[in-house]
Amino acid sequence: MNFDELKLAPAILKAVREQGYETPTPIQAQAIPAVLEGHDLLAGAQTGTGKTAAFTLPLLDKLSKGQGKTNKFGKDGIAALVLTPTRELAAQVEESVRTYGKYLPLTSTVIFGGVGMNPQIDRIKRGVDILVATPGRLLDLQQQGHLDLSTVEILVLDEADRMLDMGFIHDVKKVLALVPKDKQSLLFSATFSDEIRELANGLLRNPQSIQV
Ligand code: AMP
Repeated sequence: MNFDELKLAPAILKAVREQGYETPTPIQAQAIPAVLEGHDLLAGAQTGTGKTAAFTLPLLDKLSKGQGKTNKFGKDGIAALVLTPTRELAAQVEESVRTYGKYLPLTSTVIFGGVGMNPQIDRIKRGVDILVATPGRLLDLQQQGHLDLSTVEILVLDEADRMLDMGFIHDVKKVLALVPKDKQSLLFSATFSDEIRELANGLLRNPQSIQV
């Protein structure tokens, strides 16, 4: 299989080609069509398998064709939310969003704890299509009234097992309560404990399962 067969927008394929990728990795070959078709996804994949592009490429494709909704601040609302366990992973994922989305008119930002809140608040106020975040800081900003998650159409939980290992289960559940029920959800995890399965069962609707 090659990338052209995946029916991604030409602007995305151009960015992918610039990265020097020749063929989709197994997780990409399976996940990209499923996400483009609108399915929820339960994906078992380790780091290094190309999982970031597996969710980022179809997410960008869908958002580039979407209408977008206005948030309570009267701006373009957040259309996609990616939750990650650590600030390093959040920064990496947002970098991938920028790289693959460089020829699309979509905006993104990353928020995580341990740094000042004000620049993050200012950035969010200006309007963001794709938000990559760690759960704790996301909730802080939401509780202080700076974030409206009611416009989210696609939710990604990346490295869900690490998120739970780090004790974020309550924060993740709080975030899930803030996003619309009617959305597309993608859960990526390297391992599947009972706790992950329970989280997945609560979140995903009739998901396609992928294991690489
Ligand atoms: P990830 O598993 O998302 O952390 O990605 C691991 C590495 O694989 C990253 O450095 C990506 O740039 C690279 N990568 C992702 N997809 C492909 C692909 N289709 N072909 C070659 N390299 C890729």
